[in-house]
Amino acid sequence: MTKEKCSWRSEMFDKILIANRGEIALRVLRACKELGIATVAVHSTADADAMHVRLADESVCIGPPPARDSYLNVPALLTACEITGADAVHPGYGFLSENARFAEILEDHEVHFIGPRAEHIRIMGDKIEAKRTARRLGIPVVPGSEGGITSDADALAIAREIGFPILVKAAAGGGGRGMKVARSEDELSAALSTARSEAKAAFGDDAVYLEKYLARPRHIEIQVLGDGRGNAIHLGERDCSLQRRHQKVWEESPSPALNAGARDEIGATVAQAMRELKYLGVGTVEFLYEEGRFYFIEMNTRIQVEHPVTEMVTEIDLILEQIRVAAGGDLGITQDEVRFFGHAIECRVNAENPVSFRPSPGKIVHYHPPGGLGVRVDSAVYQGYVIPPHYDSLVGKLIVHGKTRAECLMRLRRSLDEFVVDGIETTLPLFRALVREEDIINGDYHIHWLEQYLARGGMQE
Ligand code: ADP
Repeated sequence: MTKEKCSWRSEMFDKILIANRGEIALRVLRACKELGIATVAVHSTADADAMHVRLADESVCIGPPPARDSYLNVPALLTACEITGADAVHPGYGFLSENARFAEILEDHEVHFIGPRAEHIRIMGDKIEAKRTARRLGIPVVPGSEGGITSDADALAIAREIGFPILVKAAAGGGGRGMKVARSEDELSAALSTARSEAKAAFGDDAVYLEKYLARPRHIEIQVLGDGRGNAIHLGERDCSLQRRHQKVWEESPSPALNAGARDEIGATVAQAMRELKYLGVGTVEFLYEEGRFYFIEMNTRIQVEHPVTEMVTEIDLILEQIRVAAGGDLGITQDEVRFFGHAIECRVNAENPVSFRPSPGKIVHYHPPGGLGVRVDSAVYQGYVIPPHYDSLVGKLIVHGKTRAECLMRLRRSLDEFVVDGIETTLPLFRALVREEDIINGDYHIHWLEQYLARGGMQE
């Protein structure tokens, strides 16, 4: 392919290896194509027919289906970089995206990691250290233990001070694992041991800490972008309060619960913290929000699944910005230039039964994504594609934009009705029900709303 180097930089990567699969691999590939950067797809043997492999300039098979042997296989990825001459790696989300060691190994081999410096990945990957850092930078945090819990007696003393209910969380946490609520003193020691063993099994690290358990908060997160030299901006918030088992299901921006003043205030605090850190790349600072107050829970040092809602309301291409700053470029925009237009909502459509949430991999026999003004589908599936059982069950993300939240919901309802995915079960029926729920229409929901709705049989009614 001809290489049109990006006009605002003399320095840009020549060839990017995308160390991921599915919709995010395709999303990164699209940004690379627009920048005139050559692309290398990597894939497991299960993904030989995947869309990201078909659309990349080159592809390399890096191992058998299990992720630990392919998408997490660092030696195979290094070899793929060497064979193809890729000068940078985009890790997407999940897999190696928050692995500080991987970032260092790449740099040792003179391959750029498209993400923050290893030091920042490491701090934010340890939730105890992350909270300590947030507190130091003036970001409000959830009340809790200052550090890890050393003994049950220590835990009890701290829990009494904070007050029940208490949440026991894994220091190495992720994906909602290693998290247990203790509603009273009698439940504390069982919660500690379950959280410790879950954390040990999932992350190989049984360190846990305590947090005040917030009863009905919203999950509101701030998108940031930094150039690594002390310039950083925020791109507003996403409300990700609709969750099942601590996993996000629906995300929107702006949050129905915030006004412009509250957004500017928390955004300014977070952006200032990122300037002090000299943070490089995209990142998300996550908060719980209750009764007008923000409580930091964690920071993700990578692009997030739900980044498109921010792109739709800001008209800023986050992957392009991420690549540009990783190559040493300046921020493409100043804080004053960031504008928010209308409202966007994303639905994560999974290959799962919409009532039991049992995974439903298999062949898509008919596929018709919705279209029209303000409708975006980020997906890597196609008619005849077989969703393999080895990875996450995301079929695609439907992102809809409107001038107002009401217009966005109207368009979302129409788009969901138009979306056809036959041959497998999907969570589309859940979203079709949600867009017709009064609380959702009013934006009146919190992090437990969806589970309560499902528990009272909302979907079967
Ligand atoms: P993970 O890294 O496992 O995703 P997070 O710390 O980001 O864990 O929390 C995930 C979700 O768990 C939050 O969005 C929220 O729903 C719930 N949660 C986390 N901390 C608390 C808390 N202190 N009180 C109530 N719910 C919480």
